Order: sequence, then C-alpha cells, then structure tokens
Amino acid sequence: MDIQANGEDAAFRTPILAEEFPAHIFLTGTGTGVGKTVASAVLCRLREAEYWKPIQSGQLEDDTLELLRLAPGTAVHLPAVSLREPASPHLSAQREGVRISVEEICQGVPEAYYLLVEGAGGLLVPVNESQSMADLAQRLAMPVVVVASSTLGTINHALLTLEALKSRGLAVAGVVLVGPAHGSNARAIRDRGGVPVLLRIPEMFPLDAAVIDRFCQDVAAGRVADPCGEATPVAASERPGDLVARNARVVWHPYAQHATMPDPLAVERAHGALLWTQDGNEYIDAVSSWWVTGHGHGHPAVARAIADQALKLEQVIFSGCTHEPAVRVAERLLEKVPGRLSRVFYSDNGSTAVEVAIKALVQRALRLGCERPRVAAFDGAYHGDTFGAMAASARSPFTREFDPWLFEVDRLPSPAGPWQAGCEAGQEKERAALAAFSAWAQANRGSIACVVIEPLVQGSGGMHMYSRAFLLEFDKICQTYDVPWVADEVFTGFGRTGNLFACDGDPELRPWAVCLSKGLTAGFLPMGATCFREEVFEAFLSHDRSLTFFHGHSYTANPLGCAAALAGLDLCEEPGYLERMAVLEARHREQLELLGQRFPISGVRTLGGIAAFELPDAPEGYLASRGQLLSLACRERGALVRPLGDTIYLMPPYCIRKGELERLYRIVAASLATL
Ligand code: PMP
Repeated sequence: MDIQANGEDAAFRTPILAEEFPAHIFLTGTGTGVGKTVASAVLCRLREAEYWKPIQSGQLEDDTLELLRLAPGTAVHLPAVSLREPASPHLSAQREGVRISVEEICQGVPEAYYLLVEGAGGLLVPVNESQSMADLAQRLAMPVVVVASSTLGTINHALLTLEALKSRGLAVAGVVLVGPAHGSNARAIRDRGGVPVLLRIPEMFPLDAAVIDRFCQDVAAGRVADPCGEATPVAASERPGDLVARNARVVWHPYAQHATMPDPLAVERAHGALLWTQDGNEYIDAVSSWWVTGHGHGHPAVARAIADQALKLEQVIFSGCTHEPAVRVAERLLEKVPGRLSRVFYSDNGSTAVEVAIKALVQRALRLGCERPRVAAFDGAYHGDTFGAMAASARSPFTREFDPWLFEVDRLPSPAGPWQAGCEAGQEKERAALAAFSAWAQANRGSIACVVIEPLVQGSGGMHMYSRAFLLEFDKICQTYDVPWVADEVFTGFGRTGNLFACDGDPELRPWAVCLSKGLTAGFLPMGATCFREEVFEAFLSHDRSLTFFHGHSYTANPLGCAAALAGLDLCEEPGYLERMAVLEARHREQLELLGQRFPISGVRTLGGIAAFELPDAPEGYLASRGQLLSLACRERGALVRPLGDTIYLMPPYCIRKGELERLYRIVAASLATL
C-alpha cells in the first residue's frame, strides 16, 4: 500500500512534557548540522530549562547566541571552553595550543533544576586524543536525547548513535527528529532502536523566536502529530505517479518540449529555499521558482497578509474603482524606485509591464507629433513572451519564427557578456556599445519613442553582465539626445543584484519608466507594475477621450497581489536585508572558486544573489544540450537547476541557509563530474 509521507494527523502528547521526563539531559546529534540548536531551543522552551553548551568551537557561529535568538529569555550558561576555529574541538584546541578534558569541563556543571547540555557535533566527536563527547555524556551521567534529521539516511545514522550509546551503558531519553516527515523513518528508529521518538520539529521558516514559540504552544496544547503515527493511505488520485500521468494527459507546460522532457516534479509543499515532492523527496530551489521567490517559499508574513486581504476584498475592477492596497503599493514603490517617477500602472506579469511601457511611450511620441516613433533594444535582450515584448527581445529560438509579425525595433550592440562586469573584455564591449548607442541616438534624435534595457544583467540571454559605469554613460547619452529609456527591472528588482534595484546607486539613474514584476509580490502572486515619469502620464491628459491610454487587464491591481507586495516590501525594509544579499554573494564566490578548482568551468560571475558560469567549451545558445544533462543529474541529487543552454546559473531564494547553499554546490559538483 502506498503511504503518505506526511500522514500524521493525530494529536500527540510528547513525553518531553511528562513529569517523569528527566530534568537534566545531554543532547547530542547524529552529526553536525542536523538541527541540534533548534532542538535545544524547542526543548528549553518546552521545559523552561537552562542551557549550557560546554564546548563551543567557532565563535562566529556561536550556538549560545543562536539559542538566545531562537529562545530569548532562556537562562544560559557560558561555555567552559570557547575555541575560535569552527572545527572538531580537539583540532581547534590543538591549533590554539590548549588541551581540554572531560574532567575539567565537568568541574563547571551549572546548578539548575532543569538543565539541557548541548554537546558539540555527534557522539564520537573527539574532545582530546583519547576522549570523546560520549565520555562527556558518561561523566555527566545525564540521559541522552539524540537529535537526527528526519530525511533520507537518518535511520542508519540514528541507529548507529543509539548503538554507541547503549554499548557505553548510557541511558537514552529518546530521539528528536528535525525536518519534514519522511516515510516511516520515525517508526523504524523507534522499533529498531528501542527508544521513543519524542517529537518531530518541522522545517521552521523563518527560523526565528516567534515561529519557535508558536510551535511550542502547539506542542504544549497537543496540536502536533505523533511522529510515529500510522501513515494514512493516500487516495489514488494523490499518488505521485498518478498525478504525473494525469498531468501528461491534460497539461501543456511552458518552455517544455513534451516529446522529450522528463517527468515533471510533482511538488506538494515548499518552505524557504526548499521544495518537497509528493513522494517526500526534498529539492533545493536553485532557480527561485523562475526568479520570483526572494524571501523564501511560504513566508508566513506574506501568506497571512494575503489571507487577511482575501477576507476583506479579493478583487474589484480597477477602471473606475480604487482601493487602499493599490494606492499604498504605488506610494511605497515610488518612494523606492530609482529616478523621478510618479505614476504606477498595474498589469499582470513581466511581459505586460514591458508592453505597457512601450505602448505608453510610443503613444506619447505620437502625441508629441512624431510620425514614426522608433523603439530600440539591445542584442541578447529578453523582455517577455507577448508580441510587443518579443519584438523588443533579441531574435532567438523563442522569437525567430514570429519575426515577420513583430514590429520593427532597432537593435543596439550589447554591452554584456558571460563574464564578471568590469573585466577587460567587458570594458571593451561596453565602449563599443556606448559608441554605437551614441551614434544611433544622435542620428534618430526627435523620433525616438524609447530604448528598453535590462540593467546590469541580461537574464534569460544567459546571465550576461555589464557594469554600472555603462549604465551611467548610457543615461547621460539619453539626456543629451532626449531619449526616454525603460529599465526592465522585472528580473533585477527587489534585491536580486545586491541593491534593491539594479539602477540604484549614487549618482542615481533617471529612467523614464521602470518595469517590475516577479519579486514584486514576494513571489506569491502574478502582478506587474510600470512606474512612469509624470510627463508620460501627462501626455495622455486631454478632453478628447480618444486620447485615453486604452490598456487594462481584468486583474489589474488585484488586491491580493497588492497585499502580497506590501508584505514583501516590509520584508525588504527589514534591517540587514541587503547585507544578507552581500553575504550570499560572498558565499557564492567562495563556492564557485572551489568549483573552479575542480572543473574547467569558465565565465565565472556573481552579482548579488546571482551566480553563473559556463560549461567547458560551451557553445552559445539556449539549445545547447549539456545543460539539460546537468539539470537531470542535479535533480537526481536533490536540486532544481535550470541552465540556460550551457550557461549554468544558481540563484536560490536569498533566505537559503549556509548549509543548504553548500549542499547545492556539492550537488552541482557531483553532477558536473557525471558529464
Ligand atoms: N523582462 C525580464 C528582464 C525578464 O527576465 C522576464 C522573465 N524572465 C520578463 C521580462 C517577462 O516576465 P514574465 O515571465 O512575468 O512575463
């Protein structure tokens, strides 16, 4: 019988809350990074226990501080030994020229009624040349709680730890699982290990005190499921294989060749940077779900904002009506977007945001008496899939066959390439692009409707990058020759490049229109917005109704989308938001360097949350095929990676944790090795 991975629904009283549960416990993990500190925070909260991590290695990742962040108010005791280097304690101690011993540590055991002692790493992690964490546990004589990840591989790791504990005669209070439910892991550990599974702590997102607090309240009220609860049979229609078969009969996927494509992932849940399929497998979302997810999947603040709005006003026609969320989003966007923009026109997605910009600027030029206004865009550009957006995009397999039906767009040489902006080849290309643009602007002065540009990075064109210096010169030329320009920030907006907008900076750029979508709603709902200068809006003001801007979509300024956008903007305003992006970029660079030492990749580049490189001897173009193989290999290993031809880019949501990012790069390395 098929069983549902997540089939726990009964109320559950965890033994942790029982009177007879030991007042003093020693907490160890089946390895590092399994969630010991999260488990400590939950246990301290539930038991009102005091916390002591006697050996701390790596002050930067100080677990005691992390515990205080997750469970503020907990009485904590300072480590007996604090080592600078984040390595195994005996190694860190050796490097610092000190010797630590279990006996010494045990001289300083705090006195507390309820006490949780967190070990470092797993049970057999060495303390010195002959002692390990197990000796510490033995000496402390406290029952042990084992923390294990709930996912694949956990049965083996948990049972090995339990055996090691038993062989030393140590009492085991039970096992705590951390992560998503996975098949019958919990029952296997209980039955084979002969110990209770005390609790399963789900993936917490965001991982903060409020979410932990809410979870603990649920645990105390018995509102969580028994981790060993009998799995419920899945209805036939919900079986993964079945869904994929039904999908194959009725659904036509975007950018997918149905004759050759692999089965789609049947995704059931998502949290943070992770996706889970119906069969319980976990995937790192390395494409931010088509570049929309920034703050993380399922962010509770955004979900709540949408739910609250849905109960108030879910939708209303936006021609002749308005509402608070739409006005508020416009006010807040206009405070933030670069340039002096003062009007927001809402639409449905990135393509329509671009269409709106082009249509409004072409009509403005017509109003000003230009007979045949010119539109220009750059080689290698991508601006969307509707006809106007396709016309502005470079000719490629996406658009080529429509060429006869696409309106005329002057094509400008691109400043971008598959390299880190500012490199020598890049500078040369930028100089040539500027000269060509300047000549074109001068030659067509007075008859230009607009030039559309993706600032700093041509995304779909292959993550090709160029410098801000180019944009500044480009802006100057636009001013000199009165060229209205459109910043297509559909991809780059809301932090992706390390600034809130790619056009941000000092001095400020002055586009005539900025197109937004994707991250606009924190990745929850489809919505587009085009911000304009007032003079574009004014070109349509007239007593002649035929001069109206005749454009609109049924769901224009949908209140749910606006509510999501407001919650997303709040998250962008949280302290340290852009700093987190800088940290992510540094981690990307570190990992890419390691990857570059192992594989002959080229064109390694980063910008904010974007990391990209080329496969060895990569031919140009979207249809290059090794990227597809790499994508499949990554998928088999638990990461959703979608190369652009032979350009590999990794762009998970910015909330991705350090360990998850490292795992992603390990998956990519293992997959590269198969090519
Ligand atoms: N402009 C840019 C720069 C984009 O990257 C995209 C989508 N990748 C679009 C426009 C089109 O957006 P959408 O897919 O929402 O229509």
